[in-house]
Amino acid sequence: MAVRSEILNIVGGRAVEAADRARFEKFRPADGSLLCTVPRSAEADVAAAVEAARAARSSWAARTPVERGELVRELALVLRARREEAAAIVAEETGKTMELALGETDAAVEMGFFVAGEGRRLYGRTTTSAMPNRTVMATRRPVGVAGLIVSFNTPLPNYAWKVFPAVFCGNAAVLKPSEHTPASAAFFGELCNGCLPPGVLNVIHGLGPEAGPPLVESAEVDLLSFTGSAATGRWIAERGGARLAKVVLELGGKNALVVCDDADLDGAVEWSLASAFSNAGQRCAAASRVVVFDSAYDEFRDRFVERARGYETGPLISEASLERILAALDGANVVTGGERLDRPGWWLAPTVVEDVPGDAALSRTELFGPVAILYRVRDLREAIALVNDSPYGLTSAIHTASLHRAMRFADEVEAGVVVVNGGTHGSEPHMGFGGVKQSCTGWREAGIEALDVYTEWKYVNLIADPAKT
Ligand code: NAD
Repeated sequence: MAVRSEILNIVGGRAVEAADRARFEKFRPADGSLLCTVPRSAEADVAAAVEAARAARSSWAARTPVERGELVRELALVLRARREEAAAIVAEETGKTMELALGETDAAVEMGFFVAGEGRRLYGRTTTSAMPNRTVMATRRPVGVAGLIVSFNTPLPNYAWKVFPAVFCGNAAVLKPSEHTPASAAFFGELCNGCLPPGVLNVIHGLGPEAGPPLVESAEVDLLSFTGSAATGRWIAERGGARLAKVVLELGGKNALVVCDDADLDGAVEWSLASAFSNAGQRCAAASRVVVFDSAYDEFRDRFVERARGYETGPLISEASLERILAALDGANVVTGGERLDRPGWWLAPTVVEDVPGDAALSRTELFGPVAILYRVRDLREAIALVNDSPYGLTSAIHTASLHRAMRFADEVEAGVVVVNGGTHGSEPHMGFGGVKQSCTGWREAGIEALDVYTEWKYVNLIADPAKT
């Protein structure tokens, strides 16, 4: 299926226009050409989707977890069967390579299989009591209606990480995808609606500041699960918190990769390149800071810069993103890159920057583009201090042959993920993913930890009287 020229919302299982028929245009990042037009949804559209979710919620929650798990497995199987088609849509609307898009599609499929398996687990707990003859058990219950708001960067895994566990846990959901990835969201939404009862997953397209707030502020939405920037997350936390909704935020990073003087330099260079530049640096887990020991710095720098010059990054998602990053680089000591490529679309040359103080805005602001800053440090103590001197704490990596250095780094680094001798990567479906400080608000996505996001614990007390037997 090629990308449709006119995308539609999905409400109560039906494909619909925005109520006022307003539309916006979505362009291809690779060449700037028009890809499709998309509903520019507003309050009435969100309200209709929330109403459809509320209507579907109880009967969906009444199905057994085994049955809901089977439906999620079916979804994963359909997505796998259509992986080429799904990846082609993602590649076209983001500009990333088919190879990357296929990898992401497969990751979304795997998340489906992992979540489906919970159908025959979804373990609760039993516990003791001070009272005789009292049996206490804790069971997981759905939260209700979930508002799912996601970023554009890896669209299918982003939908899968939220939609699969949300619906599996018995919630009905409204997905608000990024305005930059409407085509993959339409594809995913249709696929889900082919397997799930109407209203269990609704998809509302639109511009963030227009379609997002009515979902955040709706009193009928019990849970808000958001993946995106810290700035938007802060606003959602304030507005969702004001009405005491459950608010779960997965936010940005300014992740660091440390290269020690005993590192395998070939491996360190390869992993640093992939960590900094793959998906054009548009990854929450991107290594935007590369911290190198003094004695290894010059050789690492020369090899890294040389390789960065030839790295195929793919375009940025929008003109606005490209302009924002170019403005942030203004005045910086750019070793390579730092300029727009001379071709249509939104391409930034892989960029390496040096001589940036740890407390400068460039060191502390997430750019979400193919920009790596190199830092020179004396030793591990200084490296860890620099890595931790950040508002964010999502992922981290260290390259060293020393177990002692690796363990000390793992112990002291302020991050939700640590990798030794690899890249600052994200997660796998069975691993809880998230960070500390401004990267997250304490929840973890994926893994069985996702069940904590999409369920509430209910404690059931059973008091039996042996005298009555
Ligand atoms: P963004 O904050 O601009 O947008 C994210 C989503 O929020 C989009 O769907 C957007 O339409 C919506 N939105 C915008 N304004 C809104 C509002 N006022 N109310 C409700 N919704 C609104 O972020 P982005 O540019 O799409 O994504 C990049 C960010 O996402 C980076 O910070 C990146 O690190 C982060 N991210 C984090 C993770 C993670 O797991 N921690 C994963 C991927 C991306």
